[in-house]
Amino acid sequence: MYRQCIEWGANVHAGNGYGFLVSVLWLSAIHYMSVGGTHTLAHAMANASMKAGASMRFTSPVVKILFEGGRASGIQLKDGTKVHARKLVASNVDPKQTFVDFIGEDNLEPFRKERLAGWHFGPEHVLGTPSFALHEAPNYKSAKWNEDINRCFYTLVGFETAEQMSEYIIQAYGGQIPDRPGAGTWVNSLWDPTQAPAGKHVMNGWFFFPKASCLSEEEWDDVRLTYNDKFLKLWEEYAPNMTRDNVIADRLYTAFDIEKKMSMPEGDFSQGRSGGIGVGMPRGNQYRTEFPGLYLCGPSAGGGGVSAAPGYGAFKVICKDLDLPKIWKQESRTY
Ligand SMILES: Cc1cc2nc3c(=O)[nH]c(=O)nc-3n(C[C@H](O)[C@H](O)[C@H](O)COP(=O)(O)OP(=O)(O)OC[C@H]3O[C@@H](n4cnc5c(N)ncnc54)[C@H](O)[C@@H]3O)c2cc1C
Repeated sequence: MYRQCIEWGANVHAGNGYGFLVSVLWLSAIHYMSVGGTHTLAHAMANASMKAGASMRFTSPVVKILFEGGRASGIQLKDGTKVHARKLVASNVDPKQTFVDFIGEDNLEPFRKERLAGWHFGPEHVLGTPSFALHEAPNYKSAKWNEDINRCFYTLVGFETAEQMSEYIIQAYGGQIPDRPGAGTWVNSLWDPTQAPAGKHVMNGWFFFPKASCLSEEEWDDVRLTYNDKFLKLWEEYAPNMTRDNVIADRLYTAFDIEKKMSMPEGDFSQGRSGGIGVGMPRGNQYRTEFPGLYLCGPSAGGGGVSAAPGYGAFKVICKDLDLPKIWKQESRTY
């Protein structure tokens, strides 16, 4: 339950609890780690795409989707370059960019405008990320009763009661930095020694944070400088070796940084939510758009997280629409 709250910003005061319960069951079953760090997954996917003949452009912002005879026919980059699409355009950026910035509000149908009007980024799914390089992995007081606590893949630190967690979420929803700096933490170097020099450790984690626009740039600067220290003091109450002396270096990425550096609006890692409009649409139609040849293939259509699900879901729909081979049905493939 704590994981669901701190990671996804689940509001335990809203809804009938059914979705919450299902997602707790879902989250309790998924723990995966990319050996070498998550960037290795992105590099592996990029390499596989290039091996299959894709060409990639980096730091090349898209500003426009081009149309020919009503069909999406390519994109235009900020530097004016036009890239022709042989079959289709698939966008994994957020829907406001895709429809409002790249196509233009005047060219949208009422359904799309209505859906976009209800679209919101945060307050759910907004995180801050503390990263600590450590001499020693945390050694919890409670290990004297069960030393497995020091070998947990994922440890929630700093919450004693459900009320504390609930208060934390309410504060973040209200645009405040939570007073009690509890965090979800994991020490990947316990499982993957490539992530730290021999004998040393790395911790990564997250705080559930208010969305980027709730604080000014100066206020976020202050959070970046002070919040990890607050967390460290709390952490030490549970793991006495988690003192400043044990920390080689640390960094905090705030919701503001994530918006600016990763282009995730408001720091929302799922590219926002529709506010209910569009729920119940036929399966697969979240990837199709009203514009022939234009598809959505990102978290706004298929959910946030490093799952590849939105891309995979869009790929299947595209194969169906364009009558391409259904390669996932080949027996030799395991996925
Ligand atoms: C702090 C934090 C921790 C997370 N931890 C986890 C985790 O442990 N496990 C997990 O499964 N998920 C995690 N997530 C969620 C996960 O990172 C995202 O859901 C996922 O990265 C979305 O993947 P994506 O490729 O669709 O979008 P993104 O990763 O957002 O990539 C979109 C890309 O498009 C680029 N872009 C944006 N606009 C334009 C434009 N106009 N032109 C060209 N390019 C553009 C962006 O620069 C970016 O490179 C976390 C997210 C955050 C913020």
